[in-house]
Amino acid sequence: MHYVSTRGTAPVLNFEETMLAGLARDGGLYVPQSWPVLSFETIASFAGKSYEQVAQAVIAPYLAETYDAATLERLIRDAYAHFEHPARAPLIQIGNNEWVMELHRGGTLAFKDFAMKLIGQMFEETLTRRGERVTIIGATSGDTGSAAIEAFRGLDAVDVFILFPHGRVSEVQRRQMTTPADANVHALAIEGSFDDCQALVKAMFNDHAFRDAQKLAAVNSINWARVLAQVVYYFTAAVSLGAPHRKVSFSVPTGNFGDIFAGWVAKQMGLPIDRLIIATNENDILHRCLSTGEYAVSGVKRTSAPSMDIQVSSNFERALFDAYGRDASAIRGLMESLKQSGAFTLSETALATLREDFDSARVSEDEVSHTIRDVHHAAHYLLDTHSAIGVHAARQRRASGELDPSVPMICLGCAHAAKFPDAVAAATGIRPALPPALADLLEREERMQVLPNDLAALQSHISGKTES
Ligand SMILES: *Cc1c(COP(=O)(O)O)cnc(C)c1O
Repeated sequence: MHYVSTRGTAPVLNFEETMLAGLARDGGLYVPQSWPVLSFETIASFAGKSYEQVAQAVIAPYLAETYDAATLERLIRDAYAHFEHPARAPLIQIGNNEWVMELHRGGTLAFKDFAMKLIGQMFEETLTRRGERVTIIGATSGDTGSAAIEAFRGLDAVDVFILFPHGRVSEVQRRQMTTPADANVHALAIEGSFDDCQALVKAMFNDHAFRDAQKLAAVNSINWARVLAQVVYYFTAAVSLGAPHRKVSFSVPTGNFGDIFAGWVAKQMGLPIDRLIIATNENDILHRCLSTGEYAVSGVKRTSAPSMDIQVSSNFERALFDAYGRDASAIRGLMESLKQSGAFTLSETALATLREDFDSARVSEDEVSHTIRDVHHAAHYLLDTHSAIGVHAARQRRASGELDPSVPMICLGCAHAAKFPDAVAAATGIRPALPPALADLLEREERMQVLPNDLAALQSHISGKTES
């Protein structure tokens, strides 16, 4: 399989090059040249198979020239070996024909582990084979950084440096980054905001001498390999509720559009998905876009679901590329307009195409809290704030009468309630406990470097660590 940029002018790459590159050189995102389709019989054969076996069948068509079957099997096995549940992504029924897919059974209690763990294994395999090392650098407001550290800790071919705003992440999130003792892991508390951290990362990538000397790499949410890993659980969930013999729908708490785009990919591959619901919090740019055709950036609001406090949804560009019939010049036009004026307007055809697959709903802070309380009351199940947004959006869309009630609704359970204990306690009166593997997290020794918001100081710190 080869990969092309949504903006049409970057070189065509194979899987391995796409994974290592992250963003395309023309500013676009890489997508496969075509969508592989699995036959009805192949999808039906997933019934009763393990998560790992399904992953192999779903992922292989995208990278067969990079990893042979035995290698891929080992990478997948090692990626998910330490997940807490044998099903990896188990389903819990919380209502009438309504389910939560728990994606928080990996090491850091959020769905990002599914993608990071696999990409960690793939990086290690590829770099070892090439005799190379890289320095992974990322900025985080919480979940992405801990998932990257958990995935890359202890690997030989990678150093990982994660920048986070000093004093502005939750204690659980901070400790997940500062307690791994592995020598290749570096948690950097920057005296600044998340935006400052992102700006520092960007500046390091733009400093080409530093970038080349350190062999910088990024594993942010636009990396195709991360999206690909997330396609798998749409198949396992749908098949366990009767696909491909019946349709299912998904409701997906959405920030950067990575997770829901993986669902759309599953549909292109032949999985019978009826609706994909884009569930947003009060940062509702995508809901407004689906409702009006106008994609217009406004200020970011802080909510109780911080991993969705995003204005520009990077991966949406991938959906737009197909909605515009893969016309890269149209995408360049939209992105230019976004840069110039903070907005673009979808063509009628593109909007109609998106609406064939996607529904959307916006969920307010009050509704998040009420949903956590209601689900706890009715089903004795504790949702985190992000997952509650998916459940509420699903209920709102179903109440409209526009969705077929006989189609099972699967709401993505994005994080464990214990990751956002204050909001959950405020809604239910119950303070969720950390799962056993993390029960002593608050007692573990922390290790982090506090650094000023200063590029030169940061670069010399990183160079010092990678030379030793
Ligand atoms: C990252 C994240 C999201 C948003 O996912 P996208 O792929 O960016 O749309 C939602 N909830 C949680 C808990 C997350 O960590």
